[in-house]
Amino acid sequence: MNYQSILNDIHDHVVSVEDKGTVASYIPELAHVNINNFGLHLRTKDEQEYGVGHYNTPFSIQSISKVLALALAASKEGSSILNRLGVEPSGHPFNQLALLEIENGIPRNPFINSGAIVVADVLVSLFDNPKEHFLNYVRDLAGDDNINYNMDIARSEKETGFRNYAAANLLKSFGNLNNPVDDVLECYFMQCALEMTCTQITRSFHMFANKGKCLLEKVRLTEQQVKRINAIMLTCGFYDEAGEFAFEVGLPGKSGVGGGIVALLPDNYVITTWAPGLNKKGNSKLGMLALEQFTTKTQLSIF
Ligand code: GLU
Repeated sequence: MNYQSILNDIHDHVVSVEDKGTVASYIPELAHVNINNFGLHLRTKDEQEYGVGHYNTPFSIQSISKVLALALAASKEGSSILNRLGVEPSGHPFNQLALLEIENGIPRNPFINSGAIVVADVLVSLFDNPKEHFLNYVRDLAGDDNINYNMDIARSEKETGFRNYAAANLLKSFGNLNNPVDDVLECYFMQCALEMTCTQITRSFHMFANKGKCLLEKVRLTEQQVKRINAIMLTCGFYDEAGEFAFEVGLPGKSGVGGGIVALLPDNYVITTWAPGLNKKGNSKLGMLALEQFTTKTQLSIF
């Protein structure tokens, strides 16, 4: 299969689409990005890599970090983490609070904000310096020491993170947060403010397509953990649009409000897109279109 020419065709089509969605502005620092950026990067099981557009431009990975944080927490804690979290789609926006109140402080899944805040709490309990530990973990997975936090975005999130403070306080009131709210949110805001390129994200997600082994073939997760995290990506990875993503694209994956989407076919490939304009549900508009075209043209999806 000529992957490069498929990516080039997708790029040419996607960049010509007029309605590119809307750049997220609820975190003010995110609004500065150019909506015309578009990058696409693919890594196949035979270790070939293909890219087109802005695939080597760093951007704010936002909620994509939730998968890597979960992987790190699960690799240390095992399935006990599931005593504090569910694995069902929420059917609501990622920052909704009502469900958390009704369900007694047990977040529906690790990819809505309240769930990711519980995962951040696990990391704060596990490590003396969780921010540094998480950064080094991601750098190791991607094989790249140039990955860094964007402090302006972290600060911007903190200044405007009223709903995340509300979620963390609710979790604390239900006894589902072991550390102080400020410590946990500091870790959470920083992980969301990580900047990576499409290439770096693709490489860091290799273990999810490779039965738990990272680029260096080191075992990072058990096969059961990979199966489970991939399942959560499929059912909960796209806010309350996971059904639509499965329907259009047919891959487990995760999006972030920075406009990134990473998706993968187990034992086959990892693909990352970046297009900062979002649709009404908060997923990258052109990223979803690009991935729909990729799985349709290649006939390579889990279905
Ligand atoms: N840092 C963002 C928030 O907490 C993450 C949102 C996202 O990418 O889904 O609101």
